[in-house]
Amino acid sequence: MLVDRRHGLGGHWLDANPFVELHQPSAFYGVPSLPLGADRVQVDGPEAGWYERATGAEVIEYYARVRRHFEASGRVDVATGHRVESDRHARAGDDVVIVESASGTRRTIRARKAVVDATRIAAEVPEGRPAPFDVETGAHVITPSNLPHAVGGSEYCVVGAGKTAMDVVCWLLANGTDPDDISWVRRRDGWFMNRAYAQPFEQSPRMIDYQSRIVEAAVTATRGRDLAEHLEQHDMKMRIDPSVEATVYRGATVSPFEIEQLRSVERVVRAGSVRSVGPGRVVVGDDVIGLASDAVVVDCTAPGLSRTEAHQIFGDGRIDLHFTTVGVAPWGAALVGFVETLDRSVSEKNRLCPPMPRSHTIDGQLDMARIGLAIDGVRREDPDVAAWNALCRRNPGRSIPDHLDDPLAATAMVRMFEHIEAAMENLQRVAPAPG
Ligand SMILES: Cc1cc2nc3c(=O)[nH]c(=O)nc-3n(C[C@H](O)[C@H](O)[C@H](O)COP(=O)(O)OP(=O)(O)OC[C@H]3O[C@@H](n4cnc5c(N)ncnc54)[C@H](O)[C@@H]3O)c2cc1C
Repeated sequence: MLVDRRHGLGGHWLDANPFVELHQPSAFYGVPSLPLGADRVQVDGPEAGWYERATGAEVIEYYARVRRHFEASGRVDVATGHRVESDRHARAGDDVVIVESASGTRRTIRARKAVVDATRIAAEVPEGRPAPFDVETGAHVITPSNLPHAVGGSEYCVVGAGKTAMDVVCWLLANGTDPDDISWVRRRDGWFMNRAYAQPFEQSPRMIDYQSRIVEAAVTATRGRDLAEHLEQHDMKMRIDPSVEATVYRGATVSPFEIEQLRSVERVVRAGSVRSVGPGRVVVGDDVIGLASDAVVVDCTAPGLSRTEAHQIFGDGRIDLHFTTVGVAPWGAALVGFVETLDRSVSEKNRLCPPMPRSHTIDGQLDMARIGLAIDGVRREDPDVAAWNALCRRNPGRSIPDHLDDPLAATAMVRMFEHIEAAMENLQRVAPAPG
């Protein structure tokens, strides 16, 4: 049984703004048993030649289809509009109370095999939460969902430096706003992955190229930013303003076209966090930034990905979901489901699915690289997992073996083999595993 307090399946996508899209190709997203989209290559626009990305509306429609597919199979019951009330540590065999939000009706259910808690890594979007700063009477603060209804102000102030803020700035520019009419509060700058290197099928050699450059840089890197700067030299990682030290990395994937657009906004405020917004002003750290009296302030400060600490995934009669693959959430979730079906001990399952740390800083990427490279080897050596991975629709690297004779892939493989041992040695030294 699947229980969710939201009115439908799709999680945070149900609340997100109307112009949100997957930041990676649809081919990497959703459940393994149903395709999302048709793996079309875009024929026009700034991403011509790259694989399609679903809009938020398409993701929601997709999960409605997933729900019908599973319910029709008779294998899954879905209780949306229900919140789980029982203690967070319930396991198989325990009574779990679920409450229908609309009616208040309570039911007790009991899992036979495992209680799966997917809430600790839940994503957080700006919608449905109060702004994390004071909003004085007369100030016009909105979430991105309300932006299409709020156009017409003479000035916009975007607060936040992540993917949502970037989407909002791109949307404003695409809808005719003059870059000089946008001010952008970016507490810290971030690194972003170039979407050209997150493409499936015949374009997957670029993914190996990307991996090989990480391995190459990891031979001598002492900080995560060494990896990022090396990838930047190969146009694989980007930042909006290369003259500013970027410290954040949360896995957002963008195109060089978007980065170019974002660079046109020159009124960037880096004075710290927004403390309050009043009519015609924003207080950022110790600075007061003057705005037009009808300025619209767009709150894009929600963290998106959860900030949950890494925790063990498999327990006795319990699964606490955490990210266990680098970058692509649905593949990791599907892998946890597959590993649960194997006849293995809890510790063996945890060995196959260690939690990926979410440091959110570029320097945390050394840790991520060490765990990511090590677990890749572990999964390749496990015959069940390797066989599943080779077929799983959501494994972004599934097509790589079909394209190893591509010159880019061949060169990248040589680079990888040449450096992998020294890279692992260095990573163990500069980002040792705890304990
Ligand atoms: C804007 C945005 C774009 C993204 N794009 C991509 C992408 O392109 N590719 C990618 O791989 N990842 C992407 N991600 C990352 C994100 O991790 C994935 O979208 C992932 O699918 C999130 O799913 P989730 O189930 O972990 O979290 P959520 O979608 O947040 O789902 C958690 C669910 O738990 C429910 N819940 C919480 N507490 C309770 C309770 N007590 N009782 C009942 N229900 C409860 C909530 O209602 C919610 O529906 C994106 C994230 C964001 C925010």
